Amino acid sequence: MTVRCSKGNCKNPAIIHQKYSGLHLCENHFLDHIERKVKKEMRKGMMVERDDKIAVALSGGKDSSALLYMLNKVFCNRNDLQFVAIAVDEGIEGFRSFTLNNARRITKQLEIKLFTFSFAEEFGFTLDDVASKGFEQAPCTPCGVLRRRILDEKARELGATKVATAHNLDDEVQSIVINYIRGDIDRLRRLRGRRDEFIPRIKPLRTILEKEVALYAIAVGIPITTIHCPYAKLSYRFTVKRMLNVFEMRHPGTKYSLIRGYERLLQLLPDEQLNKQLLRCERCGEASAAGLCKACELIARMK
Ligand code: SF4
Repeated sequence: MTVRCSKGNCKNPAIIHQKYSGLHLCENHFLDHIERKVKKEMRKGMMVERDDKIAVALSGGKDSSALLYMLNKVFCNRNDLQFVAIAVDEGIEGFRSFTLNNARRITKQLEIKLFTFSFAEEFGFTLDDVASKGFEQAPCTPCGVLRRRILDEKARELGATKVATAHNLDDEVQSIVINYIRGDIDRLRRLRGRRDEFIPRIKPLRTILEKEVALYAIAVGIPITTIHCPYAKLSYRFTVKRMLNVFEMRHPGTKYSLIRGYERLLQLLPDEQLNKQLLRCERCGEASAAGLCKACELIARMK
C-alpha cells in the first residue's frame, strides 16, 4: 500500500518516514521541509550577513554538493552575496579523483567558481604518504588538520568573509560525543565556530540528519558516489558513528536530543570559558591551541 504525505491535504506518495517526528513526506514537502530547517538554523546562528563572500568547502560528495546547491537556491535573490567553492585534493588514491569530478560538474552547472588545491602542491606530500609512515594517529586526524589549514589560508586569500562546511547532524553529534568521551571542554566549545579574528565557519546543515541530506541530494539530481575513503573505518569517529546509528535506530530522536543537550550545556559554561582566545601559531600565524599548530607540527614531522 502506498503511504501518502502527512502534510495538509497532500495526496502525493511519501518518500520518507521521519521516525523522530512521525511525519511521512512527499518529495516536494520533504525538500521544502529541509530548506526551511536550514534557513531557520542560518537565521538563528546569524550565519549570513550583508555583502558576505562565502567560500564553500566542496569535496564533491553528497553533503557538500547538496550544501552548495541549497545555498545557491535559497539565496538566489541576494545580489549582495557571493559564493565560491574550494576543493582540496588530499591525495588518496582511487577515491578523491571521483568526488572531485563531481565537484567540477556541480560548480559548472551552478556557475560557481571552483578553486582546487592539493596537499601535494601545498605541502609536498600526499595523505597516502602520511598514512604510509604508520604514525600512531589514524589518517583522518592529519587529513582534517591539513585540510583546515588549506581552507583557512585560501579562503582568506580569496577575500572570503565566511567558510561554509557541510557538517550535518550526524557529524555534529559524533564530534560532541567524541569530546564528551575525551572530556575535552575546549574543543566542545569550539564546535560552535571560531573567534572573530579568524574567518568564521558556518555549518548550515548541522541540524539535518546525514540520511536526509543524502535523500535531498538524490531528489535534486546530485550524483551520489558509492566509493568511500579507504581510511574512514580506521578512525575513532567511525566507531562512535556506528554506535550512534544503533542508538538512533532503536531510539529515534537520540541525535536531536544530543545536540539540544549540547546547546544547553554551552549556556552553562562560564563566560571566561566561552571567551577564551585561540592563540596564533608562532610559525604560520594560523589559529592554534598551543605555540605550534598541529599542521606545522605535522609538516615538520614529515620533513
Ligand atoms: Fe580524510 Fe578521513 Fe575523510 Fe578520508 S575519511 S577524506 S582520511 S577525513
